[in-house]
Amino acid sequence: MKIEKSERLKRLPPYLFKELDRQKEEVRAKGVDIIDLGVGDPDLPTPPHIIEALKQAAEDPANHQYPSYSGMDDFNAAVARWYKGRFNVDLDVGSQVVTLIGSKEGIAHIPLAFINSGDIALVPSPAYPVYHIGTQFADGKPYPMDLLKENGFLPDLEAIPAEVAEKAKMMFINYPNNPTAAVATRSFFESVVAFAKEYNVIVCHDAAYSEMSYDGFKPMSFLEVEGARSVGIEFHSLSKTYNMTGWRIGFAVGCEEVINSLGQVKSNIDSGAFQAVQIAGIAALEGDQTCIEEMRKTYQERRDILVDGLNSIGFSVEKPRATFYVWMEVPDGYTSTRLSSRLLTEAGIVSTPGNGFGAAGEGYIRIALTVNSDRTREAVERIRAVAL
Ligand SMILES: *Cc1c(COP(=O)(O)O)cnc(C)c1O
Repeated sequence: MKIEKSERLKRLPPYLFKELDRQKEEVRAKGVDIIDLGVGDPDLPTPPHIIEALKQAAEDPANHQYPSYSGMDDFNAAVARWYKGRFNVDLDVGSQVVTLIGSKEGIAHIPLAFINSGDIALVPSPAYPVYHIGTQFADGKPYPMDLLKENGFLPDLEAIPAEVAEKAKMMFINYPNNPTAAVATRSFFESVVAFAKEYNVIVCHDAAYSEMSYDGFKPMSFLEVEGARSVGIEFHSLSKTYNMTGWRIGFAVGCEEVINSLGQVKSNIDSGAFQAVQIAGIAALEGDQTCIEEMRKTYQERRDILVDGLNSIGFSVEKPRATFYVWMEVPDGYTSTRLSSRLLTEAGIVSTPGNGFGAAGEGYIRIALTVNSDRTREAVERIRAVAL
């Protein structure tokens, strides 16, 4: 029998890192002690009180059955209370909150609710790949909004041609940003709301890194801006805030019609998140928040070691105010892939070439702050030893 993939799978962008993966295997086979700064997955454990809540909830048979599609009322209520406390945003628990099996799940599925064949979704470049791929899976066309250094890595909405804006059905944005580590301003969010109203574009703001910030800086919610709730929703996740990437729990909040349509897609695809995980999620959102302060301290210390170190050896890197990424411009004469390749083969350091996040990421590499301070220091020393 002939097994033929769908056009949708065949259309997936080519995998750019085959050669780097091969080099990584080669370096590993030589016995090199690799420092992996490639993956955006916290190396810190989930706080114990959250694990304890899961253990207890897992033992209760009431949690062994299918959960409610849109999430437990208690979890959604905890989300609403958290939004009120953190952002002073009021949410209606019954209609403006939906529980997700990780925010990636919601982001990947939402285009199915709004995109018809050929519709445009405005997607940042570079970006978390799911915006682009979710759009393509719904037979939509992603239109790249380049994130450039001269614009503070915010999309230039005025650069979007009017005929594209008119055809656009959705827009994805993400601040604090992966991979550039940029943060948004209130006036940027205001211009997004104005653009969305003018062109009838549904805004999806991914706020996965809202709690991972430094030097006392507190990123804002898109929903704090006037009118935002009538044009879009915000995706959120417990993954980065509470070191819960493996648990698969997140949520989306905001515009009722958008939340409702996302819920409609989901109710036909999945059957909700395990209730014991939702109960652990409540423990995370409502429990002692000093774990977040400790997380910030840990990454801030690593950030300072890495960025001060890189600057001391001749690079010019700004300290990110949020996220656990450093977005570093490559030196003259390098491409993203070429620099990542040299760091790997000559220093045993894994980084991510910026072009893997979209064409506008060329000329940068992303370094994740996912090893402890000593290892981060060692990474700097190894980079110093490579004459770049
Ligand atoms: C890590 C990350 C997420 C979180 O994904 P989950 O599915 O909630 O684990 C969402 N968006 C971005 C940009 C991320 O980097």
